[in-house]
Amino acid sequence: MKKRIVSGITATGKLTIGNYIGAIKNFVNLQNKYELFIFVADLHALTTNIKPEILKKNKKDIMALYLAAGLNPKKTTLFFQSDVNAHGIINWILENQTTIGELSRMTQYKDKSKLKKNNQNKMIITGLLTYPTLMSGDILLYNADVVPIGKDQKQHLELTRNIAKRFNNKYGKTFVVPKPYIPKIGEKIMSLTNPNKKMSKSSKIEKSYIALLDEPEIAYKKIQKAMTDSENKVYISEKKPGVANLITIYASLKNIDLKKAENQLKDLNYAEFKKEVGNVIKKFLINIQKKYKIYHKNVDTIAIEGAKKANKIANKAIKNIKNKIGL
Ligand code: ATP
Ligand code: MG
Repeated sequence: MKKRIVSGITATGKLTIGNYIGAIKNFVNLQNKYELFIFVADLHALTTNIKPEILKKNKKDIMALYLAAGLNPKKTTLFFQSDVNAHGIINWILENQTTIGELSRMTQYKDKSKLKKNNQNKMIITGLLTYPTLMSGDILLYNADVVPIGKDQKQHLELTRNIAKRFNNKYGKTFVVPKPYIPKIGEKIMSLTNPNKKMSKSSKIEKSYIALLDEPEIAYKKIQKAMTDSENKVYISEKKPGVANLITIYASLKNIDLKKAENQLKDLNYAEFKKEVGNVIKKFLINIQKKYKIYHKNVDTIAIEGAKKANKIANKAIKNIKNKIGL
């Protein structure tokens, strides 16, 4: 039997090249070897107080981009998280297997709740704290063996593993304890305006990310303005996070390893280097956007089909879990 993989992307903003390199690209590579369940995490998006019309648009865009990137609905189950009610039920059950201490120690919670305070908005949404149990539920419902994630999600997956083990000890073997799959290249694509920070689709600074639906010419310009350093020499070093980030993006999009990319780029000055990276990105965007337009009209049908398959598995899991805990 094929091993199972589950993963999703939150419908909070425009998908970035970080999401593509750190997540989607790997889903596509894994879909022949594994049984994949890939969803659009629309429930997760609610932690940001997102406007309904924007959420509706984001959801469909992400599904269309999954398809455009090469996810094949004949091989991979693609669905919207909110079409499977079991995600909400398991979240509540797992919240009761988790402590506030554990959740408030999550780096992402600390970062995201701090952000709010700086904006003078002292209201921290509860979902920001409990989001990791919803994520744990997303994974455990399907008994995933493997979860492909970027580096930023490592801590949440570790928590998921702890919850699964705890539950299994308490109630008898119920969940598979999932393993992380972190990509070899691009586990953390950095912001273009501050290469010490992760590139994020929910960032307010448009120049900090390349969105998959950015106008290719605008994306090209963002690369020309990306923050580097003053050395004007292209090589990978911890001291040169901006340059290393652009080399990483280049390598991933060209499907070559970092060493080879570095060799191809090392004799260029920064202007030439950025031109080269910009062109690779431009070509990639033109291609994916062309497919995105074609696939957009299939989104609803594919999501309905996917939800049917996902519901079948998730409902069975919930029945089992309810029985174990005495509901
Ligand atoms: P948000 O700002 O809303 O948290 P995000 O860009 O971090 O958005 P998520 O929906 O949280 O996106 O994550 C979706 C997937 O993309 C996860 O697997 C995550 O690890 C991966 N990912 C997100 N950002 C990056 C990045 N900069 N580099 C590599 N992988 C990333
Ligand atoms: Mg994130």
